[in-house]
Amino acid sequence: MGLVTNAPQHPCVHMQRPTPKERYHVVCRECRLERLFDVVDDANGLEREHAEETGHRVVVGRVR
Ligand SMILES: [Zn+2]
Repeated sequence: MGLVTNAPQHPCVHMQRPTPKERYHVVCRECRLERLFDVVDDANGLEREHAEETGHRVVVGRVR
């Protein structure tokens, strides 16, 4: 009989995040537009899109 060792896998091991979770807050200065993104590319995309569509001044801020 061979000895089978199944190393127990604890999903909890991966609870520690290597990088702090940052979010990107997109706010328009000239209307009520306000959204929160996890991905900076998405935030920049909305900023650019809204600015092109409306000519508004949009600000992207980082929040933790
Ligand atoms: Zn706007």
